[in-house]
Amino acid sequence: MAMTMSRISSCEMTDCSYNSDKKCHTPAITVGDMSCAICDTFVKSSQKGGEAATIGGVGACKADNCRFNKSLECTASNILVGMHSNHADCKTFAAR
Ligand code: SF4
Ligand code: SF4
Repeated sequence: MAMTMSRISSCEMTDCSYNSDKKCHTPAITVGDMSCAICDTFVKSSQKGGEAATIGGVGACKADNCRFNKSLECTASNILVGMHSNHADCKTFAAR
């Protein structure tokens, strides 16, 4: 079954290059490392990233201990991203 990509409804990380107006503007972020639902795509650069018309989505998620994770993909229709211990995390993460 084809999956619908999970959208990023908002992101608090206004210092990320892909962020403007608390929205993410890169098509497909990667979430998760082995310990945390971190946004792996976060980047702080003098260059602005993404395109204003692009609505950010979740390309892949490695947080397989989240109940929305299926086959290392996100099945939530929307997620929120925000600050957690000085890095960007998926706030929609919910432990199984
Ligand atoms: S979701 Fe990740 S890549 Fe997108 S603006 Fe937020 S921190 Fe940056
Ligand atoms: S809701 Fe869960 S599966 Fe979806 S991106 Fe966040 S941590 Fe990954």
